[in-house]
Amino acid sequence: MTATVRTDPVIVEVSLGARSYNIVIGRGLLASLGTRIVALRPGAKTFIVTDDNVARHFLGGAEAALARAAVTTTGRVIVPAGEASKSYRVFEQVCDAIIASRIERGDIVIALGGGVIGDLAGFAAAVARRGLDYVQVPTTLLAQVDSSVGGKTAINSAHGKNLIGAFHQPIAVLADTTALDALPPREFRAGYAELVKYGLLGDAAFFSWLEAHWRDIFAGGNAPGSAAREHAIAVSCRAKAAIVARDEREIGERALLNLGHTFGHALEAACGFSDRLLHGEAVAVGMALAFAFSAKRGLLPTPEAERAIGHLAEVGLPTRIQDIPGPQLSIDQLMELIAQDKKVKHGVLTLILVRGIGAAFVEAGVDQSEVRAFLSEKLAER
Ligand code: NAD
Repeated sequence: MTATVRTDPVIVEVSLGARSYNIVIGRGLLASLGTRIVALRPGAKTFIVTDDNVARHFLGGAEAALARAAVTTTGRVIVPAGEASKSYRVFEQVCDAIIASRIERGDIVIALGGGVIGDLAGFAAAVARRGLDYVQVPTTLLAQVDSSVGGKTAINSAHGKNLIGAFHQPIAVLADTTALDALPPREFRAGYAELVKYGLLGDAAFFSWLEAHWRDIFAGGNAPGSAAREHAIAVSCRAKAAIVARDEREIGERALLNLGHTFGHALEAACGFSDRLLHGEAVAVGMALAFAFSAKRGLLPTPEAERAIGHLAEVGLPTRIQDIPGPQLSIDQLMELIAQDKKVKHGVLTLILVRGIGAAFVEAGVDQSEVRAFLSEKLAER
């Protein structure tokens, strides 16, 4: 598998019958936002949801692109950057701003930003005026490889992450990889965790390719970095699109995309959804724990688990609970948060475990006491 240098965008289709849509991936795509909206929905008006960081970098470019194509923008709302904006309070502000702008059914909400904006704007679009169409313009690596695709939208509750939300598919995803050049390295690395997830859960060859090419992906910019980035993003989107097309509502195999997330969400909540632990970092620790737990159960050889965990550590991601800065997390707190996970039924956990790199599976019926014993052991490690 090699990445070739290309100038035309890569297009990945998410096949969902009448709700099918394209993910377009390439450099400089933001400039074509207006013409793409016109092609998709001639005459539609737009409303932009973004955050203050992203607005500084890309709002001007997005609005100019819409104006050049004579697309009317009825308004925009700029929320504070960060996970804390996936709250009832900010959600209310976004919905009210959308409604006040007099955007109508048939018009389009544009989610311009990372996964926080995609989840927040997507959920607002799902419910405002009983449902508006929206276009995802993901600007983080995490959003380009994962959150902008598949239609899961949500905000957080005090009880845990993403507990209030809806399935609502976008009508298009426009992933301008140039945006990633502005992303802080820590955010880029956090997004890489979701990217490597596709190798770890179902594509061993992609994982090997990432081991060989991760430096190019991190270097980015022009070729060969940009070609490696686009290739990695396209492989991830194809993997996600295929899973979503087969199981849109997470009745079965879509749960595989949650590899590392049961542990990760609990860690993220325990850190108060703060900068102490970014979502992708939490997923990295969570995946490392899933591999270690699987190895402890004898599902895969320990060296293979160590290879997976070693790659995450090599790129600079946290892989141990002890890598999380700040006060030590307690087992009671973590188990309480794990019990809130959407994958818990009658007190029994469903975990995504692995039989090897690229061989994840859904394990229903994991006893909480086994998880408690495992995490206690991990917390006691030096
Ligand atoms: P984010 O949206 O908070 O973005 C990270 C930071 O980068 C923010 O400060 C943002 O302002 C800034 N930023 C965004 N683009 C930038 C750019 N190009 N240049 C400079 N700064 C930029 O976080 P994220 O990591 O993109 O997304 C995490 C969220 O995604 C979590 O809430 C998670 O639950 C959600 N998520 C959802 C799904 C899904 O399927 N819906 C999947 C995975 C993750």
